[in-house]
Amino acid sequence: MIQENLRLVTQKIDEAAPPEKRGKVKLIAVSKTKPVSAIEEAYLYGIRDFGENKVQEIVEKFDLLPKDIRWHMIGHLQRNKVKYIIDKVALIHSVDSLRLAEEISKEAQKKGKVMPILIEVNIAHEDSKFGVSPGDCEQLIRQISLLPGVQIRGLMTVAPFVENGEENREYFKAMKQLYVDIMTKNIDNVYMDILSMGMTGDYQVAVEEGADYVRVGTGIFGERNYQPG
Ligand SMILES: *Cc1c(COP(=O)(O)O)cnc(C)c1O
Repeated sequence: MIQENLRLVTQKIDEAAPPEKRGKVKLIAVSKTKPVSAIEEAYLYGIRDFGENKVQEIVEKFDLLPKDIRWHMIGHLQRNKVKYIIDKVALIHSVDSLRLAEEISKEAQKKGKVMPILIEVNIAHEDSKFGVSPGDCEQLIRQISLLPGVQIRGLMTVAPFVENGEENREYFKAMKQLYVDIMTKNIDNVYMDILSMGMTGDYQVAVEEGADYVRVGTGIFGERNYQPG
């Protein structure tokens, strides 16, 4: 089932990709709440990028799985937990404050590394969502760009939950526009080469609008069962 889902999702991404992006869009398999065995199965079929939203889960799975996996932190990150994942994740997608970036900078320097990050944007101005508002994005990027030990690589968004992914097209267009606007500013230490957007319900639309990374969970692993309590 995971194999068939992966084949289907990959095919749909290929079909949606604009010519210049064909074969280059990265699929991140969002494995949050899913067991190690499910990740091993996706790994067997060639997936190396996995997304998780909880520090504890990354730490546990990291130890049990092959070391060539690239772990993506896609969930809200508390400053006091940065130290647990700084040497385990390949990319942090969810940076939305200077204070969090400063903590990442501090911990990365301790390990002698430079941590690639994305800035999370709340493109639809939803009260329930994390992320910087589009209007504050450039200023935040300019501040973070001055920190040692972190490197901004692009933008990420979690679009509204909708029945029909088409409804999010305007938000993906707005993300692409913001991404290009910031790229054009040529800010030192800012490399705009990753636009992370699109989930199970809307990844094809996101790819059509220029996503470089899509984050798909349910569409690969099936529905998530959250344990009560
Ligand atoms: C859970 C999650 C996803 C994947 O969601 P699906 O709808 O299952 O594909 C993508 N991005 C983030 C930030 C998530 O938390």
